[in-house]
Amino acid sequence: MDELHRLTISQAHQLLKEGKISSVELTKASLRRLAEVEDKVHACVTINEDAALEQAEEADKAISGGKIEPLTGIPALIKDIMCTKGMRTTCSSKMLENFTPPYDATVIDKLKARKTVILGKTNMDEFAMGSSTENSAFFPTENPWDLDRVPGGSSGGSAVAVATDEAVYTLGSDTGGSIRQPAGFCNVVGLKPTYGRVSRFGLVAFASSLDQIGPITKDVTDCALVMRTIAGHDQRDSTSIPYPVPDYTKALIPDLKDLRLGIPQEYFDGIQEEVKANLQTAIKRLEELGAEIDWEVSLPHTKYALAAYYILAPSEASANLARYDGVKYGFSYQHADNMWEAMEKTKQFGFGAEVKRRIMLGTYALSAGYYDAYYLKAQKVRTLIRQEFDQAFEKYDALVTPTSPTAAFKLGEKVDDPLQMYLSDVCTLPVNIAGIPAISIPAGFANGLPTGMQVIGKPFGEETVLHIAFAYEQATDWHKRKPPI
Ligand code: GLN
Repeated sequence: MDELHRLTISQAHQLLKEGKISSVELTKASLRRLAEVEDKVHACVTINEDAALEQAEEADKAISGGKIEPLTGIPALIKDIMCTKGMRTTCSSKMLENFTPPYDATVIDKLKARKTVILGKTNMDEFAMGSSTENSAFFPTENPWDLDRVPGGSSGGSAVAVATDEAVYTLGSDTGGSIRQPAGFCNVVGLKPTYGRVSRFGLVAFASSLDQIGPITKDVTDCALVMRTIAGHDQRDSTSIPYPVPDYTKALIPDLKDLRLGIPQEYFDGIQEEVKANLQTAIKRLEELGAEIDWEVSLPHTKYALAAYYILAPSEASANLARYDGVKYGFSYQHADNMWEAMEKTKQFGFGAEVKRRIMLGTYALSAGYYDAYYLKAQKVRTLIRQEFDQAFEKYDALVTPTSPTAAFKLGEKVDDPLQMYLSDVCTLPVNIAGIPAISIPAGFANGLPTGMQVIGKPFGEETVLHIAFAYEQATDWHKRKPPI
């Protein structure tokens, strides 16, 4: 079995349980795969072989003692925005290049309690601001389907690591699309949970009212397994919600009888023809599986979502990033004559261009003379968008849209044009604004590049979303296609 790295969580779990493979063998297979492809794709910021092998040995001991859960002994990689005790957490920023957190994020606690193996941390756009992973202060990540193209972002490293089998699964974070868009660009599964479903404790804050952690996996079953583990209330995150966590695998039913799906027309404006065609074919497949489709849904406020997001997210970011002043932790400019100069230079040299752009946009939108015109107005639009989704969910169990307007674009193509870059999230960010769950799953190819389908659910509707995604996945084999690397 020299193809161990190709296994999904559910397959590896079965073999571990039967004693046919060990976690050490599985971990070594992932590390070999990392050594083989990492030079080409640059998905990781930190790889910790020794710690990973130790954790694998621990997992094997637990398993031989009869203690095994679905994630026990499975090698994972984590987006470098989640705090890992004793392991550097950089947010792909110079500001945190040498920051090692003294504690674990809640999601990491949960994974460690199940003895998952943490191989290391994945590359991302600096502080999760971007859609291509080109804003990493260290290096860009390449798309394994075409090394001249971006993997999407900001969780580009996490999506690439799953697509190339460097890890069996990864965690990403999603503020406006950062799990789903790279999942779509790389032909893997990515879920953004309902706001409050997964604890944000230990997730470095970008825009606190929009950020959520979620799984990136090889298939929908694995997505359900990871969700089961990471979801749930956490006293250390006051926005996490004390609802019981269902067994998401029970939702994985292969037909769609009695489900009503809406197709919002606004999500097809300005979409690449091939992406549109793939989605239409995919929706017909959902219909064949028993779903009732309404092709004519309208959500007219969608057109304001992008503008509202680019007020709200930078505003929150400008407040959250004020903490990086060079005093308590992170990069600190040491050659200043006084405190003010030290703070100024710390930010000048510690942050990259996009992060500075967001801080400027945010402080402007929040400033005394402009608050009402920008921030307050964006909040009102947010309410309208949320209400529009609520009304749609009175009639439909879920909404289906493309994940992104195009397939993966070329490296360098949009770096000098922030607006074009921002537009690659038009289909995903309304979901964050409304705080609802959505998944992206593989749904076809355009000129050799994968394209994703997004399924949007009502608040805490993860089960419905997973159900639809599972049924589609069973009926197709897009997710089985692997990049030529
Ligand atoms: N691309 C969007 C942005 O730059 C979303 C990023 C994210 O979800 N973290 O803000």
